[in-house]
Amino acid sequence: MIEMSSDENIVVPGEELAVIEEFSPLFGAYSDENGYVRASLLGKVAKDILNKVIKVTPLSSRYLFPSIKDIVIGYVAYIKGEIAMINILRDGNFRPLTGPLAGFLHISQIGAEGKHISEHVAPGDLIKARVISSENPFQLSIKHPSLGVILASCSVCGAILKREGDKLICPRCGNVEKRKIASSYINLKLTD
Ligand SMILES: [Zn+2]
Repeated sequence: MIEMSSDENIVVPGEELAVIEEFSPLFGAYSDENGYVRASLLGKVAKDILNKVIKVTPLSSRYLFPSIKDIVIGYVAYIKGEIAMINILRDGNFRPLTGPLAGFLHISQIGAEGKHISEHVAPGDLIKARVISSENPFQLSIKHPSLGVILASCSVCGAILKREGDKLICPRCGNVEKRKIASSYINLKLTD
């Protein structure tokens, strides 16, 4: 099998990999009703150009511990005062970290206008953040444009919000929500 693969080819479930005319899903992928091949798991994507098949290999459980300046992925657990508490789950490449790790995001580390932290993040949001302290719980920052909320759901109906410009819009009920959105917000193409 001739494969083209690299460490950068980390994909998340639902991510578009190819169109069915180009590649058939072999493992860890599926084709949707619109003819797109999508990842069905978190892993590394490999394309076999010769046989026109695509596969996603699950990431190995290499346990890592974040250090200062590292990028991490986590969920907003709750908000208290000027702080959002984060459950840190993955490193910037979505690899699992030694757990459980906690992070806290202070209003001063958002880098966007707004007095209340709830204007920028909400419980359940998946965020990408930079580690700025060296001990668990880690202090986090989302000041950079590449950092912030990468996936959020509608507070009214629970559907995954879609990014349109600087807003997040619910494809199901039309609710518009405000977040500090990361440039890498994951726009899933979901069908109900
Ligand atoms: Zn909604």
